[in-house]
Amino acid sequence: MDAKEVSAPVAGGSFLISETAPGEVFTPEDLNEEQRLVGQTVRDFVEREIVPNLDRLEEKDWTLTRDLLRKLGELGFLGINVPAAYGGAELDQVTSLVVAEELSLGGFSVSYGTHIGIGIGPIAYFGTEAQKRKYLPKMVKGELIGAYALTEPTAGSDAMGIRTRAVLSPDRTHYLLSGTKQFISNAAFADVFNVFAKVDGDKHTCFIVERATAGFTVGDEEHKMGIRSSSTASLFLENAKVPVENVLGEIGQGHKVAFNILNVGRFKLAAGCVGAATHVIREAIGYAKERQQFGKPLAEFGLIKHKLAEMAIRTYVAESMVFRTGGLVEGTLQGLHGDPAESMRALEEYAVECAINKVYGSEVLGFAVDENVQIYGGYGFMEEYPAARAYRDARINRLFEGTNEINRLLTTGMLLRRAQRGRLDLIPAAMAVAREITEPSLSEPVDGPLAEERRLVNMVKKAALFTAGVAVQKYLDQIEHEQEVLAGIADLVIEAFAMESGLLRALRALQRDGAERAAIKIAMIRTYINDAIPRIDATARTVLAAVEEGDTLRTELAGLRRFLRYTPINTVAIRRKIADQLIAHGRYAN
Ligand SMILES: Cc1cc2nc3c(=O)[nH]c(=O)nc-3n(C[C@H](O)[C@H](O)[C@H](O)COP(=O)(O)OP(=O)(O)OC[C@H]3O[C@@H](n4cnc5c(N)ncnc54)[C@H](O)[C@@H]3O)c2cc1C
Repeated sequence: MDAKEVSAPVAGGSFLISETAPGEVFTPEDLNEEQRLVGQTVRDFVEREIVPNLDRLEEKDWTLTRDLLRKLGELGFLGINVPAAYGGAELDQVTSLVVAEELSLGGFSVSYGTHIGIGIGPIAYFGTEAQKRKYLPKMVKGELIGAYALTEPTAGSDAMGIRTRAVLSPDRTHYLLSGTKQFISNAAFADVFNVFAKVDGDKHTCFIVERATAGFTVGDEEHKMGIRSSSTASLFLENAKVPVENVLGEIGQGHKVAFNILNVGRFKLAAGCVGAATHVIREAIGYAKERQQFGKPLAEFGLIKHKLAEMAIRTYVAESMVFRTGGLVEGTLQGLHGDPAESMRALEEYAVECAINKVYGSEVLGFAVDENVQIYGGYGFMEEYPAARAYRDARINRLFEGTNEINRLLTTGMLLRRAQRGRLDLIPAAMAVAREITEPSLSEPVDGPLAEERRLVNMVKKAALFTAGVAVQKYLDQIEHEQEVLAGIADLVIEAFAMESGLLRALRALQRDGAERAAIKIAMIRTYINDAIPRIDATARTVLAAVEEGDTLRTELAGLRRFLRYTPINTVAIRRKIADQLIAHGRYAN
């Protein structure tokens, strides 16, 4: 990617304390020719190879899954972010978002995402030269398939609590691994597993374990609610003999492999959710146009228009966040010349944004599939219609790559840690907001396009900073025990990032394409912001009321009211217009 096409590096989390100009964010409209071509190639692949095979894939035809992965390897899509020296395509992060978005159709996308993300990723980023040479060229061709085994029956969210042990052999040539791994994607057909175990009782470490290893067996396939075309099974290790040269990263540093890889996975998961939501919107529009009740198509009813418009609005916001984050990540990677260790550090910078994307993207998809079933009515409940499968398949996204509860706790926790370590000036910003609340007039932008929406985004950031500041002042370092407060603050932060990302994209479209062509984006973000304010108000009130009481609480609530005062707009009329455009196009398109 050309350097001017990505965002200039800014500190992770800084969106909360500084203003961003529309020209500084990457948007889907900034995709270059090559990235668009990649998108089209993947779309064609999905239509040609996946859509006709959805039932066979759900019947767990692993030979077909492997064939499809090999074909994606031939197209260069298994080694998107892998350096060319190991057979990879060495493309940028934004291109990998485009692929994740387009390939997001049910369980096969989990097989693909597992292989390229948590199968190949750890070896590409943390492997020794010998490990990379041994595994990557075959993995990017799809000759070897990867998997990632962290979870255990007693260690899910608590990933540091794993019990699998690794004991060094007396001749120091290999480790003996013993333990059980659970819910491992690609288990039925993977060849190479990144397995986490503890050395000497407490040194969390990652090992590359080959399928043929003596003492290593794969359990029966799980019967799942959704993504049935992906494989999920347990792994059993009984003194599995793993050569010392298969330690991945350093002994005792397995958590770095585990968590950094999940960071990358999170914003790609969000891109997949956006792609899946786009697909569902298209199906919902098609059905609503076709199905007649009371003598006219469902698409002509106001309540159905409301649903279609809202599905599109939230998808637009999620998509804006995902590509903004992709631009940020790519911006920090420029100039690192593909150095994997440096790249990993750069990606860590945006761990907060990655967690936000994961939560927001998966919840937008959850909303879209639910409304899709509703639009299909009783037929949505029947397995022969696509709405049921989409509904079942979507649910996993709120569970894996860190549950949404864990990602909410991480969002606030990481922001506060960055502030403590002086990497983000949150504390002075929160103190300034607390002072401002007592001043006669608030500093607000008053003119220019979308002035009211820009004012509201600023005010939401202030409300988030103010609420977080009050909570931190009360609980100090005991705040980690106040989960509901932490999650409430996370919701305020997530909304601030969501609103701003959609707004900046609309402003950028307005600058570049003019009012007429930017109209739909403007309509969507105005509606979104209008509806977000009462949600944000309610969350901030809940947090403040949990933290303070009496006169102090009353004063704080009065301050909050000043930040969040607004006059509602006619979103009924705007949503109808948005829906009419969706119905005319037959799909979500901006
Ligand atoms: C289909 C599928 C595929 C998977 N693929 C893989 C894979 O390839 N590799 C792999 O290693 N793992 C994989 N997993 C495991 C997945 O990452 C875990 O299921 C997930 O991390 C949650 O762990 P758990 O299921 O043990 O739930 P738990 O950790 O027991 O959580 C249960 C509930 O409690 C909440 N909770 C837990 N801790 C806290 C806390 N501290 N505070 C507040 N709430 C909390 C959770 O948010 C959740 O709502 C997969 C799971 C599934 C279902």
